[in-house]
Amino acid sequence: MRVVVEVSGVRKRFGRVEALRGVSFSVLEGEIFCLVGPNGAGKTTTLRIVAGLIRPDGGAVRVFGLDPSGMGLEDRRRLSYLPEDAGVYRNLTGLEYLEFVASVYARSREEALEMVRRGVELSGLGEDLRRRAGGYSKGMKRRLALAAALMVEPELAILDEPTAGLDVAHAVAVRRTVRDYVRSSRASAIVSSHNMLEVEYICDSVALISGGRIVEEGTPSELKDKHGASNLEEVYVKLVGVEAA
Ligand code: ATP
Repeated sequence: MRVVVEVSGVRKRFGRVEALRGVSFSVLEGEIFCLVGPNGAGKTTTLRIVAGLIRPDGGAVRVFGLDPSGMGLEDRRRLSYLPEDAGVYRNLTGLEYLEFVASVYARSREEALEMVRRGVELSGLGEDLRRRAGGYSKGMKRRLALAAALMVEPELAILDEPTAGLDVAHAVAVRRTVRDYVRSSRASAIVSSHNMLEVEYICDSVALISGGRIVEEGTPSELKDKHGASNLEEVYVKLVGVEAA
């Protein structure tokens, strides 16, 4: 199986804060890889480094065999990144926002139209797409941003807490969307999450990060077996503790 992301010994410091202290993992083609851990553990920093938005201080990162911070436009088109605080342009309607993203990613008018068609479907926002996105609820903005991130059909989707702030029904829909997308397109995804049920449902591999280090890694069933736990929440509490969680 092809390795899509290879992170080895990555370190990152922000002033006096050592955000990452030697993080290593790899993501295979067709896999959903989840990063879980307490607030401040280093999940967002790791995802931003994989997306090429910031550079590590040490260690190496390869995405499709390339350094993500030095990728040209053609290779950048192969990945998409949903930030934790994904903003949408307040003055555009949801539909105009999808059209804007499509115009950046697509190579032809036909491809852009096809992307927007997929985005409309993925968002599930229906008639609301004709309203200004500035008036959307937090969850609606999240669904619009996720639709934009997946409609471009990335080989690698980097999704920072895709279901944060969503109600139960929409969180379920988003998990299905991510899973179906990865399964049907042989793409890969890195997903950060605080929700262990979510992790158990969508992830092929899980890495538990705490204090800038990966403290455990495996498939959900490997982790449960190893720690004699009936669900991943128990594994999490055992390794990270409830105070930190
Ligand atoms: P959360 O679950 O709360 O989103 P996280 O696991 O995503 O947390 P990060 O956002 O990666 O954690 O932060 C890791 C550490 O690095 C934290 O101590 C944070 O304060 C620090 N940090 C992250 N980005 C910056 C920055 N731009 N400047 C200063 N410190 C930062």
